[in-house]
Amino acid sequence: MNDLKMRYASLVEQVQQAERRAGRPAGSTTIVAVSKKHPAGTLIQAYHIGIRHFGENRPEELAHKRQTLEGELGVDNGITWHLIGPVQSRKTPLAAQNADLFHAVDRPKIASRLSAKLSETGRALDVLLEINISGEASKAGFSANEWETSPSQQTDLHQAVMNLDNLPHLNPRGLMTMAPWGADPADIQQLFRRTRGLADWLSQRFPHLDLSTLSMGMTNDFSLAIAEGATHVRIGRAIFGARS
Ligand SMILES: *Cc1c(COP(=O)(O)O)cnc(C)c1O
Repeated sequence: MNDLKMRYASLVEQVQQAERRAGRPAGSTTIVAVSKKHPAGTLIQAYHIGIRHFGENRPEELAHKRQTLEGELGVDNGITWHLIGPVQSRKTPLAAQNADLFHAVDRPKIASRLSAKLSETGRALDVLLEINISGEASKAGFSANEWETSPSQQTDLHQAVMNLDNLPHLNPRGLMTMAPWGADPADIQQLFRRTRGLADWLSQRFPHLDLSTLSMGMTNDFSLAIAEGATHVRIGRAIFGARS
């Protein structure tokens, strides 16, 4: 077996262990293979070992790889393309045209730009609200570091989902978050738990929406995220090795 295949098999095993420990069904977590900075040829290898979810953090890179893989494998290749990084407003057309699930709506302007572009083509786009649960200044997303006790954060978060719900062609599906680098595992797990709590709180307020998607957990912390109910983990290095 080559390295990619071995690393992926080992990751699948670890994800299944985390699912078992959490009392969750095997396969209930979607592994998004984060292929940023790796060439399209590597994604084609990954495709041939069964990977069907790819994550990219730049819209132009996603668009290029999508096009290349559709050329090699056909348009009905079964791949779901996840755009996981925040997008500059001038790049929203590329995101609107090429992403299948956009994980990183981090401000109202991006949502309205996406919706405007989608209205031109009639395409619909599933989106997640990115939330900043740790309160780190370096992190993108809607502030949620004290969502349980802050009326203004609650209002903003409620408003953000309502905004997505009201915009044509955008389907709000849930939340995405990132844990701080190098934090204590117990603290990271607590942040994931609080993110899940926010998702439940929003679901109660928008019973007509399906906000059940929870994108959290990366190479360093996916087991903690699965324990706290992640439906999607975004894994780069554990599958593809170090990025140059
Ligand atoms: C790069 C990236 C990942 C994957 O990180 P790894 O540590 O390589 O697993 C996940 N989420 C986002 C938003 C990223 O930019």
